[in-house]
Amino acid sequence: MHIVVLCKQVPDTESRIKLNADGTGFDMEGIKWILNPYDEYAVEEALKIKEAGKAEKVTVMGLGPDRIVEALRTALAMGADAAVHVKTGEDTGDTSSVAKALADAVKAQDAGLVLAGCRAIDDDMFAVPCMVAEYLGVGQAHVVSKLEVDGGKAKAWRDIDGGAKQVIEMALPGVVTATKGLNEPRYASLPGIMKAKRKPVEVVEPAAGGAKAKLVKCSLPAERAAGRVFEGVESVPEVVRLLREEAKVI
Ligand SMILES: Cc1cc2nc3c(=O)[nH]c(=O)nc-3n(C[C@H](O)[C@H](O)[C@H](O)COP(=O)(O)OP(=O)(O)OC[C@H]3O[C@@H](n4cnc5c(N)ncnc54)[C@H](O)[C@@H]3O)c2cc1C
Repeated sequence: MHIVVLCKQVPDTESRIKLNADGTGFDMEGIKWILNPYDEYAVEEALKIKEAGKAEKVTVMGLGPDRIVEALRTALAMGADAAVHVKTGEDTGDTSSVAKALADAVKAQDAGLVLAGCRAIDDDMFAVPCMVAEYLGVGQAHVVSKLEVDGGKAKAWRDIDGGAKQVIEMALPGVVTATKGLNEPRYASLPGIMKAKRKPVEVVEPAAGGAKAKLVKCSLPAERAAGRVFEGVESVPEVVRLLREEAKVI
């Protein structure tokens, strides 16, 4: 079986996010980019399935501009065999066009299983892999914390509200998305990083267009006022007054 893992490059959570001039996205200047943490779970699971002798090859696939190859190299350094770069500009289009382009590229790979993160930590749509499954016409198990793959079947466990579990069985090919708890992603070793530089990265150009929705506005939360420090027991009446009159919490 061939496993394709969808890998998105996202800003590091430590990055300071600023909006672009027209407020329709964020300013890319000075951003530190990483592999989406949920995709690390997906890569790890694919490697474990291959190591258990249930898959022959793991290919990682990302859509976006040239900079995203760095995230694909991170996944290659973890142990994936090959990468596919679905090449776009900085403007990737809406969720549906991202999913359509990825689904088209997956079709060309003849994958038995598509693994992905359940969510990208930047745009947080929880949607791309589900749409990929729809475009491929295959089953899907979303937000999965345990997975078993056997022959042409997959069994997936999902945690739902209140600690309850759901178990899904499906025929492969299919799409499974990973969440925390599925596994503990490995770190790339130094030899892994060196080998990753020589692993193949195929570049494919998606068909242009196909977006059905337009992102019109982004906004950041209002800046919080600076905190105030009160010293000494004599300030207690003033603190009580402010809690009552300004903060209105008592
Ligand atoms: C209406 C609308 C318009 C938009 N317009 C633009 C635009 O003009 N320009 C722009 O740059 N963005 C735009 N975006 C954002 C962009 O489309 C999002 O990246 C996309 O919607 C996917 O959402 P997400 O990244 O939150 O993925 P999620 O659905 O949260 O991601 C889940 C998983 O899918 C996989 N995945 C997601 N994206 C990729 C990818 N690119 N490559 C590989 N795997 C992936 C990963 O495994 C990831 O963990 C727009 C979004 C919307 C809703």
